[in-house]
Amino acid sequence: MTDNLLTGPTDQPKINSAADTSPTLGLIAATTSGRAAAILVAEALGGRVYEGSAAGALRSAFAECGAVVSFLAAGATIRVLAPLLGDKGSDPAVVCVDEARRFAVALLGGHHGANDLACRVADVLGCQPVVTTASDAVGASALDGFGADLGFTLADPRLLAPVGAAVLSGQPVALSADRPWPVPALPPNVREGADGAYRIVISDAADAGADGRALVYRPRSLVVGVGASRGVSAQEILETVDAALAAGGLSAQSVARLASVDLKADEAGLVEAAALRGWPVVFSAAAELAAVPVPNPSPVVAAETGTASVAEAAARYDGAGRPLSDLVVEKVKSARGYPMATAAVARLRARGRLAVIGLGPGARDLLAPRAVAELRRAAVVVGLDQYVEQIRDLLRPGTEVLATGLGAEEERARGAVQLARAGRAVALVGSGDAGVYAMASPALEYADADDVDVVCVAGITAATAASNVLGAPLGHDHCSISLSDLHTPWPAIERRVRAAAEGDFVVSFYNPRSRQRDWQLAAALAILAGHRPASTPVGWVRNASRADETRGLTTLGSFDPAVVDMYTVVTVGCSRSRIVAGRFVTPRGYTWAA
Ligand code: SAH
Repeated sequence: MTDNLLTGPTDQPKINSAADTSPTLGLIAATTSGRAAAILVAEALGGRVYEGSAAGALRSAFAECGAVVSFLAAGATIRVLAPLLGDKGSDPAVVCVDEARRFAVALLGGHHGANDLACRVADVLGCQPVVTTASDAVGASALDGFGADLGFTLADPRLLAPVGAAVLSGQPVALSADRPWPVPALPPNVREGADGAYRIVISDAADAGADGRALVYRPRSLVVGVGASRGVSAQEILETVDAALAAGGLSAQSVARLASVDLKADEAGLVEAAALRGWPVVFSAAAELAAVPVPNPSPVVAAETGTASVAEAAARYDGAGRPLSDLVVEKVKSARGYPMATAAVARLRARGRLAVIGLGPGARDLLAPRAVAELRRAAVVVGLDQYVEQIRDLLRPGTEVLATGLGAEEERARGAVQLARAGRAVALVGSGDAGVYAMASPALEYADADDVDVVCVAGITAATAASNVLGAPLGHDHCSISLSDLHTPWPAIERRVRAAAEGDFVVSFYNPRSRQRDWQLAAALAILAGHRPASTPVGWVRNASRADETRGLTTLGSFDPAVVDMYTVVTVGCSRSRIVAGRFVTPRGYTWAA
């Protein structure tokens, strides 16, 4: 959860939005040290420190803000807020921090922003977040926010409590879905075919959970295509839409949007119908719809609009380049005659989610919070076994792990994409940054159809981790060169080393040396030595940021390549790099003397 309050990812309850004018985070303190802490948090996360009497300030902040951090005692905070409490879905999230800044307690609205906010405040103040909502405490997905970022809604929230209790107490709970959805992992007792008192069902079928034993999530899976003649009323359109949904046994709670031809963009009844139900409505060009195969084309409609089908084609069409949706209810006509409406329903294709995550050089505190959030968003984690081991404790219970040994990178990347294409939430992990000599490129090359949502999370690379260990060697123009000739022929590598030598670039060598490749580093250094002095600094870091980190700093003239291996980055300075008080420094040198 790295995002600042303005740009929280969609699966986090938003406690701010760029359009808001009122402060979204209110901070209240009564003491000097409380105020100092409040200012720190306000500076880091954005927000307003309220002045005046503590109780009055707290009341105002609660009324005006999306979230509140109170530096008063929990008891005082509760006493002031108790009379103001309303619905947990709309009340502001409240976090309390103690005077000694030891704990940030998610007090109210845990699943509505407080748990997350407690963690962010704790990050800023260097204290411990305290989260008491049961499902987060055991690291499982919270059922009330389950699938929220995919647009899921609960058919009947009353079942949340008994089903939540069954999940948390480890009872078997059957899980079923009309089709795969990229949801995060649920604990292992929640699985397909489990035999227990309750079920969790993800379905757009109107009768799902009719026996009262299933917690039914409504995915936004249906697009209702609508055709309308001039002047048709909103009511008639909605009757037709409902008739089409009923014909397919489908729930209106699962409608993602209405869709029509752009000719109808100003049709008042259609716009009003969508607004009445709170559905978006999208319009596509007739030429686009004309290309969509449909079961009931009409020459009359074609003559009028330029597409032989509006309702069926608009239902199926999901935008340029995207696969067409499957039609599940063919065109239904309104009952009343002219002016009339038509409606047809299509089900959107499964769109999986692929997160490509850089885990950084190794140390846990160099792993981005956003990477942690993405790991916990996944149902399947794919990666080299040593990297998966590095983060296994962060995964939600029930996460499937596909760890493989060295050497099968391309296959692993393709496998991850295939799982995402099948509709799952997949995390593909790699060390450093996953886009640097790693898995992101083979994965994204293979993901060549627009059927998967891809998120890439940056990681600290070995080159920057090493440079920070050594000092500031990358202070001017630099490049990275991998000496592995497994994927690249040596002459190509040599050409780049020569170019770097001629250009006087600082060079970070990746994959510098292995048992089978023992001469390349010396050859590369010899090329550089032809263009820069023997006194040029050379630094190496082995296992940067890991427990057994080692390093060395010497010069091009005295460096012995035999001291490094595959766990090492070697950084060679440019002609102006120097060693200053034992640190490797490349001057920024804007006044470069050629
Ligand atoms: N994606 C990674 C690079 C993978 S290539 C990144 O962005 O850093 C593997 C090479 O990276 C290793 O041969 C070594 O040269 C380097 N490397 C990876 N982790 C390292 C670490 N913690 N310390 C030093 N070098 C490392």
